[in-house]
Amino acid sequence: MNVNKAKTKKSSESCALGILHPSEVEFNTTRKPVHVAMFSGGASSAYVAYYIVQKYGKENCALFFTDTLWEDVDNYRFMEEVAEYIGLDITYRIDGRTPEEVFFDTHFLGNSRMAKCSEELKVRQTLIYLEELRDEHNLEPILYFGIGPHEQHRAVNLQAFYEHNPIEPIATRFPMIETFTGDIDTKEVIQNEWKIKLPRMYDLGFSHANCAGRCVRGGLGHYALLYKVWPEQFKEQEEMEERFRAKFNKDVSILKRNGGPFPLKTYREQLERDGVEKFLNEKDDTVPCICSYS
Ligand code: SF4
Repeated sequence: MNVNKAKTKKSSESCALGILHPSEVEFNTTRKPVHVAMFSGGASSAYVAYYIVQKYGKENCALFFTDTLWEDVDNYRFMEEVAEYIGLDITYRIDGRTPEEVFFDTHFLGNSRMAKCSEELKVRQTLIYLEELRDEHNLEPILYFGIGPHEQHRAVNLQAFYEHNPIEPIATRFPMIETFTGDIDTKEVIQNEWKIKLPRMYDLGFSHANCAGRCVRGGLGHYALLYKVWPEQFKEQEEMEERFRAKFNKDVSILKRNGGPFPLKTYREQLERDGVEKFLNEKDDTVPCICSYS
């Protein structure tokens, strides 16, 4: 891989925003930089990948995706079409287990508060890849995320994570916040200029497209939508949850209601009894999925 000789130094443009703070860390390195688009399979991260290829050249960039083996089939179609459009092959990293297998291995059912599936299948695989870039290729990764201004808190968390968890700090950049002025309608650009159809999960109303609507951090409204559009998928999650509860004899669940366990079986019975529509906007105390880079 050819790379340019630019030094990697934390951007301070974010300072003006007063929210995404510039790092104190100087990324002083003799390694050659490689610009890594953290591809989530969504529109914004696709656009950010396009942007860095235009700016740095594809020989200096990577398009990175961690596969949980739960992804929707149409996400793969979208990702491959984007990769072809921008001229950069996707670097896939795959643990080999599904989130369900992680839950059983760790004896812990993922939920809105803690999702070991994300730690094992995405974060860990990402850190291994980044250390390989340094150790085996003498490259210094700079990570680019598609997170927008409305989710700055997630950008702050990612920045802090990559400054403190790798062996050496890793630079993070958020072009949708730090670089672009004004709103960019990435979906419109991708559909109308690139002529690439967006992942079908957008049309179905899912707020993020990871793990085919089964994300354990999705929350009550998200699972109501899953029940509405893909009831068989909901049923598979319900059966997985029941198997877990029986095997480990624990009163645990993916969803929570009023601070306590709320099994999918109970929720489905409620949806069938009362109708799904009134639950689609149901608020809960869940947090946004950390696997989605937008
Ligand atoms: S998207 Fe959700 S279910 Fe899938 S790996 Fe991430 S946290 Fe787990």
